[in-house]
Amino acid sequence: MTNLDYSDLAQLSLSGELIDRSTAKGILNATDVVLLEQLAAAYKVRHHYWSNRVRLHFLLNAQSGLCPEDCNYCSQSKISTAEIEKYPLIAQSKIVSAADRAASLQAGTFCMAISGRSPSESVFNSVLEAFQAVKSKHDLKICACLGLLSEAQTQRLAKAGVDRVNHNLNTSENHHENICSTHTFRDRVATIKNVQKAGITTCSGGILGMNESDEDIIDLAYSLRELDVTSVPINFLIPIAGTPLADINQLNPRRCLRILNLFRFILPKQEIRIAGGREVHLRSLQVMGLYPANSIFVGDYLTTVGQSASNDLAMIRDAGFVLENPDGSILETENTQNLNVEFKQSELSRDSV
Ligand code: SF4
Repeated sequence: MTNLDYSDLAQLSLSGELIDRSTAKGILNATDVVLLEQLAAAYKVRHHYWSNRVRLHFLLNAQSGLCPEDCNYCSQSKISTAEIEKYPLIAQSKIVSAADRAASLQAGTFCMAISGRSPSESVFNSVLEAFQAVKSKHDLKICACLGLLSEAQTQRLAKAGVDRVNHNLNTSENHHENICSTHTFRDRVATIKNVQKAGITTCSGGILGMNESDEDIIDLAYSLRELDVTSVPINFLIPIAGTPLADINQLNPRRCLRILNLFRFILPKQEIRIAGGREVHLRSLQVMGLYPANSIFVGDYLTTVGQSASNDLAMIRDAGFVLENPDGSILETENTQNLNVEFKQSELSRDSV
């Protein structure tokens, strides 16, 4: 469909109305000729809620590999033969030191992930203690990505001052069984609801490029809207050798931009983050992704390396975007220019968030 009126579409999204399925398909299948028009409309919506501000998140993979689940995209799963570093929960001092780095990079949110279906009691207790240590030292928001969580666990996270929990839906309910057999889409939804019951804000998004159909992408966006999640990380699959999805490459930079635009039109107010796969799939068009999205990770991903923080900051600054704190206040760009941003998170990283 090439005859969508993108100006009307922006207005519709801003009015809070849901974009219908046929229009959503039209967005995903629009020609390259109208890509700039589509991006301009998505930016109108993004700008209304987020102006030209960009939020930075910093990610730490605090426990890697050794996971009993079989998520097809993940290098840490029990069925993956990918050569990744595997380690149990790292020491609290290392977690605090990673938070120090997050603060030095002007990231407003410190995201900490651990591999696994859900944390054992002893790991959970250590994680809570580490979060309290980070909170006592830094004014960082903490986002915890700990797998499936019970209501009792989310209540304890809330008491420990955790600001946000990440738990991705990953894909549509229909497609979920094609990418994982050890837990269900419903299990994931239940965790998000437990997080919300505890009064913690929710971060939940997806991974695109996993053999899903356009219908699946649209269903995922609708599900995230229905759940009213606060923050939406959009990962583009990094096919990792040794995982069942190693040979898939269904994305190109323009397709990624259309996907980001679609999520912005369906989730107008949400914080939308370009997460794993930004460098691999958007490539030279990375900065264009900031017209629909308003947030990125600075540093690396679960088990793959991201572009240098200095390049990220230059990209943001060159396009006239400014960094913001999680409370919406603007960070001094002069300060960011003086950062020593050559940091590379060499031993700690992630694939999707
Ligand atoms: S995504 Fe999480 S639950 Fe799934 S295999 Fe990877 S670490 Fe395990």
